[in-house]
Amino acid sequence: MPLYRDEGVVLRTAKLGEADRIVWLFTRGHGKVRAVAKGVRRARSRFGARLEPFMRADVLINTGRSLDVVSQAETIAAYADRIVADYAAYTAASVIVETADRIMAAEREPAPDQYRLLIAALAALARGAHRPEAVGDSYVLRALALAGWSPRLVSCVVCGRVLGVAAGAGAATDGPAGDGLESGGAGERADQGMLDLPGDFGGSGAPRVPGVVGVAAAPVASTISDALPSSPSSAPSPLADAYFSVPAGGLMCAVDHTPESRRLQSGVLDQLRALVDGDWDVLDPAELDAQTRHIVEEWGAYYLERPIRSLRLLD
Ligand SMILES: [Zn+2]
Repeated sequence: MPLYRDEGVVLRTAKLGEADRIVWLFTRGHGKVRAVAKGVRRARSRFGARLEPFMRADVLINTGRSLDVVSQAETIAAYADRIVADYAAYTAASVIVETADRIMAAEREPAPDQYRLLIAALAALARGAHRPEAVGDSYVLRALALAGWSPRLVSCVVCGRVLGVAAGAGAATDGPAGDGLESGGAGERADQGMLDLPGDFGGSGAPRVPGVVGVAAAPVASTISDALPSSPSSAPSPLADAYFSVPAGGLMCAVDHTPESRRLQSGVLDQLRALVDGDWDVLDPAELDAQTRHIVEEWGAYYLERPIRSLRLLD
């Protein structure tokens, strides 16, 4: 394929020579690709700002012997314009593209679900739809879940005892969540996604943004569903007994918890579940707890096998 057309989001760029730049794009159809944008650093470049980080563009790429070359780029969505104007949004967007870059380790491996999640997250930031930190942290957990690393947030990873089912914790996160997360599952959850999540980031519905669908992350759903014991005899423990271990993959009970696990503070489990679910009713009213943010950071660092630099800056 000497010449191909695709759409993609610019993850990062690097200078090349006097006037050129190497651009890493996450494309819809070709996964992560790397291509040279010639003359892009000149004042009157024909590409303008279309190949800056966070931009979503329609590109025409020439396949070269050593390096591919961008021959055309047309902006689809100038997410960057709004994102760079807001420091919190910029920081969250940096976390998002860095995570996407790491998850897509290999080039030319299409990952359409990851692509949809990425553009949904950047669109949400650009619109100021939710708190930027929550969008960034939700993206990290969900992108990793799509890649196969879903935290277990219902029951102890060792004994399977259901944890954190506190009174009044809300139907959205406890029992029904196991079913409702799946787009084909309990209707109430699917409806909520359609109603409350305007096509951006979360839930299964994407009524207002074409092409953004079902980012509810099937791996998450299956994990949580799997974690729910079918036997009604396992009595829920109070939230105070919930611990979280990143290496072990999720919750631990007071009996089984290992030294590196941390005891979850009040509200943290609800926030973690909401981040994974994209449940903005829970996330929008309050800031993320510091412990929630640390767990997301550790989860990212552990499963991406190195720290997310953009997240580190937050400390
Ligand atoms: Zn246990």
